[in-house]
Amino acid sequence: MSDALIFKVEGIAGHPGQKRGFSGVQHVHVSVLDSAVDDEMAVTGTFTGTVDGVEAAFTVTAPVDLTCTRCLTQWTESLEVTGSQYFSRTPDEDGYAIVDGTVDMSGPATDELALAIPLAPLCKPDCKGLCPICGTDLNTDPCDGHPDDSDSPFASLKDLFDP
Ligand SMILES: [Zn+2]
Ligand SMILES: [Zn+2]
Repeated sequence: MSDALIFKVEGIAGHPGQKRGFSGVQHVHVSVLDSAVDDEMAVTGTFTGTVDGVEAAFTVTAPVDLTCTRCLTQWTESLEVTGSQYFSRTPDEDGYAIVDGTVDMSGPATDELALAIPLAPLCKPDCKGLCPICGTDLNTDPCDGHPDDSDSPFASLKDLFDP
C-alpha cells in the first residue's frame, strides 16, 4: 500500500495486454445529504495496457457514516464499490489523463464512492421510526398514543371523526 493514489503506468500504457496491480490509500471527504465518508479510502485494482493508454479496473472500500431517515440512529458501515477508468494522454470529459507517465486514481475512486452512498438509509428495512408526537423510538418502545394531548396537530382531526 502506498499512501497516495498516483501510480506510474510507464511500460503498460501503449502496451496492449500488459498488466500491473496497484493499491493505495488516501483520505477522502464526500457527503450526500446526511451520509458521509470522512476517512481513508483503500483502492486496489489492475492496470491493463491498450494501444494508446491504460484501463484501470478498481475496487474502493471506505467506512460510510449513515443516519437512519426514520429513527435518526447513526452507524458506520463499510462501503465497497467497483469501477473502471480509461486513461490516455488526452484528458477525457472529467479531465482524467496520463500525466508525466502517471495516473491519479483519487478522482475516479471518489466519483464511484459518491455514487454509491445511500441517499435514504434505513437502520433496518422495517424500521418503525419515531412517534411524531413524543419522539419515542417505536422500535424499542411502542407508543400507546396521546389521547389527552389536545395540542397535538392530530387532535383536531380526531374531533372530526368522533361521532
Ligand atoms: Zn431506523
Ligand atoms: Zn408518542
